Amino acid sequence: MSANRDSVRHIVVVGGGIIGCSTAYYLTRHPKFVASEANVTLVEASVHGVAQGASGKAGGLVAKWAYPKELVNVSFDEHVKLANEHNGKDRWGWRYVSTGSWEGTGEFPTSSKPSGEKSLEKTLGLPDSSNTNRKRTGHPDDLIWVKEHLTESYSSMAPEGATAQVHPYLFTNSMLELAKQNGVKFITGSVTAIKQSQGKVTGVELFEKGRTTSQSLPATEVIVCGGAWSPALLPGLPIQGTRAHSVVIRTPATAQIAPYVLFTEITGTGNGVVTPEIYARPDGTVYACGPGDDSPLPENVDDVVVDAEACDNLLRNVTAISDELRAGEVEFRQACFLPVSSIGGGPIIGEVEKVAKGLFVATGHTCWGISNAPGTAKAISELVMGGKIKCANLKNLQPSKYI
Ligand SMILES: Cc1cc2nc3c(=O)[nH]c(=O)nc-3n(C[C@H](O)[C@H](O)[C@H](O)COP(=O)(O)OP(=O)(O)OC[C@H]3O[C@@H](n4cnc5c(N)ncnc54)[C@H](O)[C@@H]3O)c2cc1C
Repeated sequence: MSANRDSVRHIVVVGGGIIGCSTAYYLTRHPKFVASEANVTLVEASVHGVAQGASGKAGGLVAKWAYPKELVNVSFDEHVKLANEHNGKDRWGWRYVSTGSWEGTGEFPTSSKPSGEKSLEKTLGLPDSSNTNRKRTGHPDDLIWVKEHLTESYSSMAPEGATAQVHPYLFTNSMLELAKQNGVKFITGSVTAIKQSQGKVTGVELFEKGRTTSQSLPATEVIVCGGAWSPALLPGLPIQGTRAHSVVIRTPATAQIAPYVLFTEITGTGNGVVTPEIYARPDGTVYACGPGDDSPLPENVDDVVVDAEACDNLLRNVTAISDELRAGEVEFRQACFLPVSSIGGGPIIGEVEKVAKGLFVATGHTCWGISNAPGTAKAISELVMGGKIKCANLKNLQPSKYI
């Protein structure tokens, strides 16, 4: 039986980051979702597609020790299920990883050693001739892509099976592709306003790519997943953007890069202690990210400025502890804005009833949006399709606390 025209729901998801794309996916997998009775449209402002912001430029760690706990408990299991159901291993680089805290002193090039110097790679992959230091420092046997003699201490941060990883750009794009297979429509454009009448959402104002004027898109429900840009649509939302730089290095084909995520503290920089995070990936690349800064949020994700010096510093720091990284080729120097709560805590997930019925928000995931995307999306899909979040108690994350 087909639904009559007026009873068809028009659900608009604003934002094609990991939260928006996963939400679109989970909406179409909800038991109450019937394609003939609900249209789902995802709108993304970037002209380059989805995952152009933090969701494509994050590390990709999925951890049981992430926060908030109520979301983590759902999300980790959902990551496992998604990977099993859709071959996440090949599709988005899903695998379990060891995660550790590494402290040591870097070997930084001096003026007598030209910075363009290349390793001959003869010793790459060879185990250190002495393992005395390893025993003392805790340096793992298979972590041969970090120079063992530089290690002052290594300690595991999670038991086996408690940390995994995804390639966030591939995961986000896969969520969208799978959602599209279930009927989700994708539009490149910017949502400039949410329309409402008598306290109920009626649509969005949309500037579609290639058009000179804006148009209205009818909606019975709008879900704002705009990351750091969300307050532009929902003023008063206590979210702001913090810019962070990252690099991706392709290691030499001969390098043996065991699956580790390292939270480092590197000394010997000549400029204090630096703390880059380093993520080995199954495709032979290694990702590293540095600290955040206060650069202002541009209007569009495509206008994020990359500070070349920030990337150079990051590369200098991570290559100071690894021959494999030093011998690698830099594939990406990038920057993005992660959505952080300006009053602490977060994320913010739920219906914004005080503004309008049918208006939902899911943002402010700080440094755990990749890990917590499936739980967030499952919860929002339950709320939108069934009227109640069943998979977790997310009372503490409700938007009514703020707007
Ligand atoms: C350096 C770094 C490393 C990280 N590492 C990890 C990690 O290892 N593990 C982890 O769990 N998390 C990590 N994170 C955090 C994670 O990346 C974020 O929490 C997550 O990506 C946020 O996803 P999002 O979809 O909310 O936002 P975004 O990825 O920013 O996506 C929002 C999208 O909405 C679009 N948009 C906004 N407004 C509009 C509009 N009005 N109309 C149309 N489109 C709009 C934007 O263009 C953008 O594409 C990291 C973050 C950074 C910066």
